[in-house]
Amino acid sequence: MKMIRRTVLFILCMLIALCPFAACDNKPQEAAAPASTPEPTLAPSPSPTPAVIVVPTPTATPTPTHTETPEPSPTPTPTHVPMTEPVITLTEGDSLVVNAAFTFEDPGATAKDYLGMDLTDRITVEGTVVPYLVGEYDLTYAVTDDYGQRTEVRRTVSVVPVELPEVIDPPPKTIYLTFDDGPATFTDRLLDKLKLYNVKATFFIVGKMSRKELIRRAFEEGHSIGVHSYTHELDKIYASEEAFFADFLATEEVIKEQTGQYTTIFRFPGGSANTASLYNPGIITRLAKIMEDMGYRYFDWNASAGDAESSIPASIFEYYSTLRRILKEDGSPTIILQHDPNIYSTRALDDFIPWALENGYTFLPLDMTSPVIHSKISN
Ligand SMILES: [Zn+2]
Repeated sequence: MKMIRRTVLFILCMLIALCPFAACDNKPQEAAAPASTPEPTLAPSPSPTPAVIVVPTPTATPTPTHTETPEPSPTPTPTHVPMTEPVITLTEGDSLVVNAAFTFEDPGATAKDYLGMDLTDRITVEGTVVPYLVGEYDLTYAVTDDYGQRTEVRRTVSVVPVELPEVIDPPPKTIYLTFDDGPATFTDRLLDKLKLYNVKATFFIVGKMSRKELIRRAFEEGHSIGVHSYTHELDKIYASEEAFFADFLATEEVIKEQTGQYTTIFRFPGGSANTASLYNPGIITRLAKIMEDMGYRYFDWNASAGDAESSIPASIFEYYSTLRRILKEDGSPTIILQHDPNIYSTRALDDFIPWALENGYTFLPLDMTSPVIHSKISN
């Protein structure tokens, strides 16, 4: 009997030991991490010599300044992507205000990756600024670092008109003598006569003319120099804004060469009312605004001496009479159109200038403050 009890007890003990639920009792589990071991996920195999390092942990849980942690893995993984994207710095800032002009020079930008490596030469710029058209333009600068991270920065460029000087009313009975299409054969003599009477005039020059040194002489003797054209080929100049600018700037260069400075006054080849430009509808209307926005003033005329090649006067007397007749009777300023390749323009001055001075007229050269006399634009 005693033997049977022992056997039964033994079998019971074995059953308890093998029971799958034996571990599911209420005893604390061995697997539970002891509270003293922080960050178990980072724990590598125990280091033989535990190091004490300062961990500036960014976690919200308050941690002691000194924490015993296992050593971190010594090298970053090669696929590491920095959290910080490259940085683009726009020279002169993200909003630029510039005056309307023939060209726009982007002040540029610099770029660095998160380690401070210079990425400036990788910057690409999208968007365009039309430098002569008043308006707002967006430029987008972008750069990509070695990790494929891309940064984009936007800059706004505001093109604004140049502020023009105020017009100053000239004395009553002011005459502005203007000579187009020179310097030419008779310009020398013309300058002699103007010097003789101490009268200042305005020359709207053609850049391709050979006697360029006369531009210098005219300037040095106190006359105004303005742009007319370089080629005077109206069928090409008005083909586009760019064609006009190229012709205009070539003339400006001639003026700069001769006088040491650029001018800001001009006369449209053919005048602003010309119809020779109709092959490009609206070009004069657009150019008139653009050129003023860029700080230039153009002058037409309100009195023509009629010395254009197609209407050469019959005699010097007729020409002289014309000059007297076309003056504004109410004393308002008169801008007279003449051409210095025409001999009448020169000869008639011998009669016209003394007569005008005796009758209370004043001769002035045109400048940025002169009365703005414009024809009605027809294109
Ligand atoms: Zn002309």
